[in-house]
Amino acid sequence: MGQVATEALGAKLVIERDVLQRIIGALASRGYRVIGPTVRDGAIVYDRVAALDDLPIGWTDRQDAGQYRLERRGDPALFGYAVGPHSWKRFLHPPVERLWQARREGDGFSVVENREVTEPLAFIGVRACELRAIVIQDRVFLGGQYLDRAYKIRRDRAFIVAVNCSQAGGTCFCVSMDAGPKVEFGFDLALTELIDEGRHLFLMEVGSAAGLDLIEDLPRRTATQDEIAAAERVVDQTRGQMGRYLDTDGLKELLQSNANHARWDEVAGRCLTCGNCTNVCPTCFCTTVEDTTDLSGSTAERVRRWDSCFTLDFSYIHGGNVRASARSRYRQWMTHKLAHWVDQFGSSGCVGCGRCITWCPVGIDITEEAAAIRGAPSLGAVDGGT
Ligand code: SF4
Ligand code: SF4
Repeated sequence: MGQVATEALGAKLVIERDVLQRIIGALASRGYRVIGPTVRDGAIVYDRVAALDDLPIGWTDRQDAGQYRLERRGDPALFGYAVGPHSWKRFLHPPVERLWQARREGDGFSVVENREVTEPLAFIGVRACELRAIVIQDRVFLGGQYLDRAYKIRRDRAFIVAVNCSQAGGTCFCVSMDAGPKVEFGFDLALTELIDEGRHLFLMEVGSAAGLDLIEDLPRRTATQDEIAAAERVVDQTRGQMGRYLDTDGLKELLQSNANHARWDEVAGRCLTCGNCTNVCPTCFCTTVEDTTDLSGSTAERVRRWDSCFTLDFSYIHGGNVRASARSRYRQWMTHKLAHWVDQFGSSGCVGCGRCITWCPVGIDITEEAAAIRGAPSLGAVDGGT
């Protein structure tokens, strides 16, 4: 195995399982906070990882609408699951973030912008749909007139170790959204896990200069044609396992012309307006701000928190709430995701990860809702109020 990174970007290499431990170590020694999948509270969540033993070795997930269970696999795969309730947005766009503080100084006050900079983040196990979701959030936070400074710092310094999915979840539909299961761009290193009798390897693709630099001292070799073909088979097999399908043909126009469809009333009869779907969605980005002062009145601060279009306060404007009903709030969420997002940001806001289906407590399924409207688009003669 070589010791000097003479490979070019796009090189396809092979590493042994234990070299992944050295990748984690190399990232930590370069000052990264290494985040990866780990088992906690009966789910695979993202948290700090230091060793391969922290990963969900030999676990997989069974998912369906409103259902999520961990099960043992018959092999020691490190990445043999789909996606859990967490997404990387909780690190790039944290649920709570202080924006600024103000301090009383004599008769006046000074404002201190939040300059808190955490260590750079390294993400292990990022899936294709999640990479697409990060690119979508990049457009939200960095693509307009105003940049989100803290997001930009975190994003610019992030190191991404992606993983091609070897098993689709029961609620996945990334193929419909052209967002997976193969990682195509936006990674520093991309892995495909290869396990069969007697071997546990990773095919590794190098996607950036930072990735090349990181592997410089690591044992590796050029992949054989057989190994490259085996990795492609893994992705092809996953592509054939999608648990859900969403017909995106003309979907934006379909939804935008059915704002009064009777289906919105039907789904409102089931929707609890809990906002779980927006919390677990890797692209939902809406926030609120809260201002607080201490009891002495000497300091004040503004904090940004994740919010949801399912809360009443979110759409409160002077005089009342413009989306008072569950019908209008579900319609707002789904049509923004699948239709108005295209007008706003140039792509769908959905990557087909399936989280909103799995983690909806009553099992509402965005693909089923869209199909119901497509199946009977002329049912729309109901009142279109809030
Ligand atoms: S669709 Fe499901 S997860 Fe979303 S607000 Fe309604 S009940 Fe909650
Ligand atoms: S809308 Fe649902 S399936 Fe689409 S990206 Fe969000 S959580 Fe995933």
